[in-house]
Amino acid sequence: MSNAHHKTSRSVVLREFNKPLALEELDVTEAGPGEVVVKVEYGGVCGTDAHLWNGRLNIPTPVVLGHEGLGTVERIGSGGLTDANGDPVAVGDTVMWASSISCGSCVPCRLHEEPTLCERRSTYGVNLTVSDAPGPSGSWSERMVLRVGTSVVKVPAGVDPSAAMSLACAGPTMVHALYGRRPVRLGETVVVQGSGPVGLAAAAMAQLAGAARVIVVGGPEARLATARGLGIGDHHLDIIDGRDPESVVAEVRALTGGYGADLVIECAGAPNALPQGIAMARRGGSYLVVGQYTDRGEIDINPHQLVHRQLSLLGSWGFTGAHLVAYVNLLPALTARFDLKCLVTEFPMADCETALRHVGAGTVLKAVLRP
Ligand SMILES: [Zn+2]
Ligand SMILES: [Zn+2]
Repeated sequence: MSNAHHKTSRSVVLREFNKPLALEELDVTEAGPGEVVVKVEYGGVCGTDAHLWNGRLNIPTPVVLGHEGLGTVERIGSGGLTDANGDPVAVGDTVMWASSISCGSCVPCRLHEEPTLCERRSTYGVNLTVSDAPGPSGSWSERMVLRVGTSVVKVPAGVDPSAAMSLACAGPTMVHALYGRRPVRLGETVVVQGSGPVGLAAAAMAQLAGAARVIVVGGPEARLATARGLGIGDHHLDIIDGRDPESVVAEVRALTGGYGADLVIECAGAPNALPQGIAMARRGGSYLVVGQYTDRGEIDINPHQLVHRQLSLLGSWGFTGAHLVAYVNLLPALTARFDLKCLVTEFPMADCETALRHVGAGTVLKAVLRP
């Protein structure tokens, strides 16, 4: 516990967009009251990180990257720590933490009871800079300091940490979408558009929630083969490699007795998924749009289809601490049914640029860095 001020951390610092990412030696601040120093075991890499690196999102710099993480507790500030489930946390425990902290005082937080829509949230690895204490404040780092207000949750015993990281962002995102926005009902037929981490999280959770049948529409074929191998989804339709979208929509209709699905979940992120998704939903069904997290432009849709199909159209934005905790609590059930560890490719932290390129190219499903 002594010499805490002398602890340092090698961390990946984004100083300039589109420039090489430097590994820097940063000071680790002392754990103040309510704060926790964690030794990071895994820092997740997701599409957002590629956008940050490329300067497509307006963020302050320099920033230690990494908003997804899992680690062991190294120091706890005065007052001790209880995790989000109410369990006491001790040095040496394995924990995950939510990427962002909502402010609690803006109108969406205070009045609309929608912390996911907070106007002033702090997000590790995104908008907390190197000079903001405490720090380091990103998970691409040997150590990081979790500040007051962070949702910290112990990883259940028996859950493989690598499996826990497989859906580190996608899992809580889908918890928000499927538990908060439009739950899957028993016996429903669900179509998932997209076979990246968000799509696979949607399909796996829909199966756990009691869907009778889950149809994954995505690609490339290697990703669908992985999903098939893990038992994620019952039907896998390739919309990327040489299939025309019309025939895929027709196949979904054929698989659903000509009616379309009860629920279509968009996890593809491409605007042209929308008209296809609308066409794959049955009359009276629901369309839950999750994947359009970054603005990739406009697309024509026929508004008559919304009325004629009597479609419930919903969006779902990100997630909050409670959704991350629900994801972690779900991990024993999720990992008992699906071997999620297979989705993960590990890279040494120094190879973060390689990991980012693989994520950008879609050549790995889930990349994680080992500090
Ligand atoms: Zn707020
Ligand atoms: Zn992420």
